[in-house]
Amino acid sequence: YNQIQDTKGKSNIRVFCRCRPLSKEEISAGFAQVVDFGAAKDGDLGILTGASTKKTFKFDRVYSPKDNQVDVFADAFPLVTSVLDGYNVCIFAYGQTGTGKTFTMEGTDQNRGVNYRTLEELFQIAKERSESFKLEIKQSAEGFHHAPGIVEAQVENIKEVWNVLQIGSNSRAVGSNNVNEHSSRSHCMLCIMVKSKNLMTGECTNSKLWLVDLAGSERLARTDAQGERLKEAQNINKSLSALGDVVYALATKSNHIPYRNSKLTHLLQDSLGGDSKTLMFVQISPSERDLSETLSSLNFATRVR
Ligand code: ADP
Ligand code: MG
Repeated sequence: YNQIQDTKGKSNIRVFCRCRPLSKEEISAGFAQVVDFGAAKDGDLGILTGASTKKTFKFDRVYSPKDNQVDVFADAFPLVTSVLDGYNVCIFAYGQTGTGKTFTMEGTDQNRGVNYRTLEELFQIAKERSESFKLEIKQSAEGFHHAPGIVEAQVENIKEVWNVLQIGSNSRAVGSNNVNEHSSRSHCMLCIMVKSKNLMTGECTNSKLWLVDLAGSERLARTDAQGERLKEAQNINKSLSALGDVVYALATKSNHIPYRNSKLTHLLQDSLGGDSKTLMFVQISPSERDLSETLSSLNFATRVR
């Protein structure tokens, strides 16, 4: 992350695009794959919009279905370190339902996602720093004056945090047999407060890390949208477009950042803009069936780059 930022020297917003594999159902139904990863290494993504037409999009990173959770986290990892250095950070996953937002952020027991890996790294670094601190203390009695920072976390270990997370994601499934049906209509937001103290200078920093699995960005079929469901869909659309407007205003260095246009952006305000770092995962489907939603997600994401 820092490297990308240094070589480009622009805003603190990065956009990574990740495409899930074709599902068994899509393969057996004969849906074609419309995504071209030929230039994915350079951050270029091609979408076959017709027999001989292709649209290309540029991102900071492009992940094909071959890239795994470790590959993805390796690029998000420097953000973890910047949280310990006092930066506020916001990582969020945007996209149509079923494209892998939850897979990227939460993952599964066998394939842990960004949330778990981030916490694991935070605890690991905190442990390393406090251990080296103990070592330095001994040395300082012999005349050394250098002491690295130590990190304090309210939670004791990743298991404790994970249990809290599970309660959160289980509650997402309440009232629905299908987790995706419910999560497509809710944002799952995890906030980690990190307090660190530089033991040499005594300087304390408080930083906030938001990990957000957004509601599905797809438009509801008109026939589905009635009553409560319609209101819910309108609120989701409103909050997602407000988020897009805020990130766009930040990316274009606008004087006015419209944080107050939705509760979502208001809540994330401290971690969007200023010297905060923002990473957006735009999640897409490879299938021709989802082409129009894919193009709409890619356009949303391109607008903020
Ligand atoms: P969303 O949260 O965007 O609605 P999910 O994360 O629930 O989507 O993903 C839908 C399905 O696709 C899940 O079964 C998930 O395990 C699978 N999936 C998503 N992304 C990947 C990937 N990169 N590799 C393998 N399976 C994936
Ligand atoms: Mg989900």
